[in-house]
Amino acid sequence: MQIFSEQKIRNKISVLKQIPVNIEYIPNKKSVAYFKDGTECSLSCLNCKNSLCMKYLESEISFEEVPTFSLDTNNNVCPVNAIKWNSETESPEIDQDKCIKCGLCIKRCPVGAIYCDDSVKINTEKSSMQEIVLSDDTKELMQKKQIEEILSIPKRGTLFIETEYLLNEIYEKISNIRHEVHNIIVRNILLGLDCSCAIRRIGDVYTRMDAIYKSGDNSIGAMEIEFGRDTLDASRGILDDIAVLNTRYNISKEQNNPLVVCLQLPNARQGYWQVVKDIKVVEGIKINTISVGALLILLWNNKNLDISTNSFYADFDNMSIKKYVENIIERKIELLDDNIGIFAPVK
Ligand code: SF4
Ligand code: SF4
Repeated sequence: MQIFSEQKIRNKISVLKQIPVNIEYIPNKKSVAYFKDGTECSLSCLNCKNSLCMKYLESEISFEEVPTFSLDTNNNVCPVNAIKWNSETESPEIDQDKCIKCGLCIKRCPVGAIYCDDSVKINTEKSSMQEIVLSDDTKELMQKKQIEEILSIPKRGTLFIETEYLLNEIYEKISNIRHEVHNIIVRNILLGLDCSCAIRRIGDVYTRMDAIYKSGDNSIGAMEIEFGRDTLDASRGILDDIAVLNTRYNISKEQNNPLVVCLQLPNARQGYWQVVKDIKVVEGIKINTISVGALLILLWNNKNLDISTNSFYADFDNMSIKKYVENIIERKIELLDDNIGIFAPVK
């Protein structure tokens, strides 16, 4: 059993009078919980122990298909450490200077107590459906059971509406983040999209690939994560990763759905797309390519990622991945992407 620092003794916690039947994310507003008796309200922070908005459980960041994979055990939900526990208020708080507005903590909170209007915030205004109680073993067990029940309720709605302004703001912040955090950002977004994902432990030179992921029931794949401009190496490196997974971990090339994740899709003149095409022609291997922005749009639309049923294959003949994202979110995306490079290379 993991003991997180956030699990330390609470003086008070919040419990629910009823379990909601549904919780809906509302863009730029607090989410709304719906109850059987017709009540609708926004739930505030439960001051819960083992705060899911802050930490992953060990089981969530392990990779059971390849238990010997040398993985990074960083279990922070916030890739940039912007969310911290405040022991005076007994609730999390967000450092706005660090927050990149990825939405990961919003998606993790079981009761929808984190929301974004102009910035990401914790709702601390108690609703009529909650009561604050002095914390003891019985009340904590009661809260734990309530959270387990709420986690089984599917949430609906949209966390954020994608806009050029928001994505430009996020991209600018991510561009200034140190290199070691890039892999953590991608792993955490994939976990938010209901994939399994493990990133290579920092300092490990034996494993070679940046990460390994599993999406859907049977789509395991090697991953290269490249936030810089040098994406040509990513398409070549993935061949090496496929060989490593085959020889060391018994994952055949037929089973492998390789994935390259970039901040901006590679430039058309860089050679990346031609190499992806050549690898498909010569080896029959289809390398999927996706941008961080596209992954975030899936997350904000409360969707999952399953590469086995939704390929993200693009190559020199068609360098756009927009239709793949639109298929999953089931609507058109109206976004000027000329300068960002989320769906197609920047011209
Ligand atoms: S924000 Fe949500 S997950 Fe985090 S401590 Fe509060 S209720 Fe728990
Ligand atoms: S929105 Fe993302 S960056 Fe901001 S506090 Fe939440 S997890 Fe951290």
